[in-house]
Amino acid sequence: MILVLKRGTKESGISNVVANIEKEGLQTHVSKGTEVTIVGVVGDKSRLDIDRLKASPYIDRVLSVTESYKLANKKFHPEPTSFAVKGTQIGPDNLTVMAGPCAVESEEGLLTIARAVKEAGATMLRGGAYKPRTSPYSFQGLEEEGLKYLKTASEETGLATICEVTSAHAVEAAVKYVDMLQIGARNMQNFELLKEVGKAPLPVLLKRGMAATIDEWLNAAEYIMSEGNPHIALCERGIRTFETSTRNTLDLAAVLVLKEHTHLPVIVDPSHATGVRDFVKPLSLAAVACGADGLMIEVHNNPECALSDGPQSLTFEQFEETMRDLAPYIALSGREQKA
Ligand code: PEP
Ligand code: MN
Repeated sequence: MILVLKRGTKESGISNVVANIEKEGLQTHVSKGTEVTIVGVVGDKSRLDIDRLKASPYIDRVLSVTESYKLANKKFHPEPTSFAVKGTQIGPDNLTVMAGPCAVESEEGLLTIARAVKEAGATMLRGGAYKPRTSPYSFQGLEEEGLKYLKTASEETGLATICEVTSAHAVEAAVKYVDMLQIGARNMQNFELLKEVGKAPLPVLLKRGMAATIDEWLNAAEYIMSEGNPHIALCERGIRTFETSTRNTLDLAAVLVLKEHTHLPVIVDPSHATGVRDFVKPLSLAAVACGADGLMIEVHNNPECALSDGPQSLTFEQFEETMRDLAPYIALSGREQKA
């Protein structure tokens, strides 16, 4: 349920409304816009006397929210969410580019990639230290050692870092070394893990599950937010369809649907969506044209020898070209690209 307050309601009026709701054991989430203030209410609504609420001198309208996700819902929070990750901002005025290898493979290799992506204009460095591989015999990641290399690369280049976490143990380690946590597609509905990152002190990139509907995805975000972490970005990374010519099917319409239903920033990952490096640049341009708040792109200094996802990893030259060609699209989207 949301309460739209009357225009010009002062702090004392907002506190009055909040106190009346909270004394019945429900939670409130106040969103102050430039024009009106909205109070989102979560909890057992049967405890509230709706007629009395409507009679409040501070409340203009009482609206019910039919969707099961509330905190992630745009009705609860009409302004787009933005938040800082180290020195960079994820959110409406900025175009975030997270680039780097699929997996952290060595300190020197990561530093080489970090320097190159920074030079080309990336705002964040990505790199997996815990790799959820299809086969248990494939490279599984360097774990804490990889996290340490991410920290070194961040200290040297100034780039903010992001790393996937696959367990509560990984969350505990990652918060010591990186600036943002990633929940991968395979764990989008791992509710215990979502609750863990909901309690973590870092922002979270929540990737879309391979077969998840947008509603399920937003409910996964709700799991994180309901634990107290409001800093979530969603990442469209392709879904499974009957089509097999690309690794997944990039659902660019999801960017538009999400912008209608949620205030959370949206990142697009054309690398995992297609599995084909030549498709990464055109789909990056298309994602920005569709209103995405950022991109996640895999880049490697020697893709042929990459320990994972080589075929979709861009060379440094291809990444530089992508960034150059993106510039007019970023400008047209009314954003800037700030480190
Ligand atoms: C990744 O970004 O490293 C990754 C494994 O992606 P996804 O979870 O989207 O498959
Ligand atoms: Mn990968």
